[in-house]
Amino acid sequence: MSERKVRVRFAPSPTGPLHIGGVRTALYNYLFARQKGGELVFRIEDTDSNRFVPGAEAYIIEAFGWLGIKFDEGVSFGGNYGPYRQSERRDIYKKYVKQLLDSGAAYVAFDTPEELDAKRKEVENFQYDAHTRLGMRNQLTLGEEETQRLIAEGTPYVVRFKIEPGEEVHVKDLIRGDVKIMSDVLDDKVLYKSADELPTYHLANIVDDHLMEISHVIRGEEWLPSAPLHVLLYRAFGWADTMPEFAHLPLLLKPDGKGKLSKRDGDRLGFPVFPLEWHDPKTGDVSSGYRESGYLPEAVINFLALLGWNPGGDQELLSMDDLVRLFDLTKCSKSGAKFDYVKGQWFNREYLLARPEAELAPEFVRVFAAHGIDASEEQAAAVIAMMKTKNIEVEEGGVKKKRSISFVRDFYPLCDFFFKAPAYDKEDKFIKKNWKDTSSADMQELAAVLEGLADFSVESQKAAVEAWVGETGKKPWNAWRVCLVGEGKGPDMYELAAFLGKEETLRRMKAALEAL
Ligand code: GLU
Repeated sequence: MSERKVRVRFAPSPTGPLHIGGVRTALYNYLFARQKGGELVFRIEDTDSNRFVPGAEAYIIEAFGWLGIKFDEGVSFGGNYGPYRQSERRDIYKKYVKQLLDSGAAYVAFDTPEELDAKRKEVENFQYDAHTRLGMRNQLTLGEEETQRLIAEGTPYVVRFKIEPGEEVHVKDLIRGDVKIMSDVLDDKVLYKSADELPTYHLANIVDDHLMEISHVIRGEEWLPSAPLHVLLYRAFGWADTMPEFAHLPLLLKPDGKGKLSKRDGDRLGFPVFPLEWHDPKTGDVSSGYRESGYLPEAVINFLALLGWNPGGDQELLSMDDLVRLFDLTKCSKSGAKFDYVKGQWFNREYLLARPEAELAPEFVRVFAAHGIDASEEQAAAVIAMMKTKNIEVEEGGVKKKRSISFVRDFYPLCDFFFKAPAYDKEDKFIKKNWKDTSSADMQELAAVLEGLADFSVESQKAAVEAWVGETGKKPWNAWRVCLVGEGKGPDMYELAAFLGKEETLRRMKAALEAL
């Protein structure tokens, strides 16, 4: 058993956009597989046709492509264990349903939805199980002959798993240890429905994990309640020896309170809960995504990897390779992980600072073009270099606060003055405060000093301006900022002037002198 090849899977149901918690689950599967030299399978669990959402599968594949989570086999990736879409595996499941029926581990039931509803109304907390099944319409109460007759007549039926009471079921979980539960609390779960000739999640999941030789089931905590049933199913099939090991990952919790992280939290506090923007095909609603919100994929990966696990020590910036090396499934926490989206912004800032400016430039150009400002990539890279460590003021969750530049979009409107001369409004607070009685004369002198420069580099300006300042004792900085920026922001004045060039610098100074 210990020699078993590591094969893990990520098995989403295509019921909508992939939630960020699902991304974390896939990431942990990926890290585990890479570290162990194993394989990661991408399986689509689409046996519930009522919940099928067109476009969801393609969305999920695109999201993982963007994030750099690579699958070794599965839907769209190929492999030897296919098909990997459960709706294409109907015939495979039928054989296994028959096996359970033949061995008596499962039975056919004819109760209609209406009959079940009536039962639920009549009996409080009704559960279809050992105590109630003999009062229902099924193979056990109707007998073999009647059952076969009804099936032959085309009566719709389901197949239910026959859970025997009085047994302590053990789920061995790599994170939670030995999880015990009495079989009495489990109900006779539906495994198959004749109406669509498809198994339910539970049966398809177990059969596929077995046939695809899955060694470890790493999934969200919300699936832990299904695990005892899964253990019993493995045993009923006679596959107990090759049952995968389980690891149920901690929930992602609200950033500011108790309970599960939801899309509403994201809407309320202003952060995405989906990797990519999602356009709901039914309602037309658009939900924001990490990609479109300006996150870098490596920042999202680093942030998610540390929600529920950490390698100890104080190093937080970890590349995918670092994570593969350090990841330890058994060290994941049992309790939920607070979704600290501000920390996510911090990660993005760190990765933004680490990226070469030229790589950020195209996005900068797009953002500014959307605001009607033409910038070349070269200009963009220069502005990013001057401004990337600055702060901006933002409103988040109704509160105004300062934070460092964390996204390329943060450069607008902070950097608009690089491309647009100020308006020089006499009543403007900053201008009023910084344009003094002496400012006109000072700026005329400074303009004359600059005018004489053939070389307009930072060094050359600095030498000339400092000589003039040394001689005259003038303090031209605030008034000069009024001329070139019009506001109390921006980089070092020499750097700004060098970026604008001599002509534009003098033009702005002249315009300020005329207006003020
Ligand atoms: N189809 C389930 C989901 O949507 C898979 C759960 C599991 O990994 O067993 O997450």
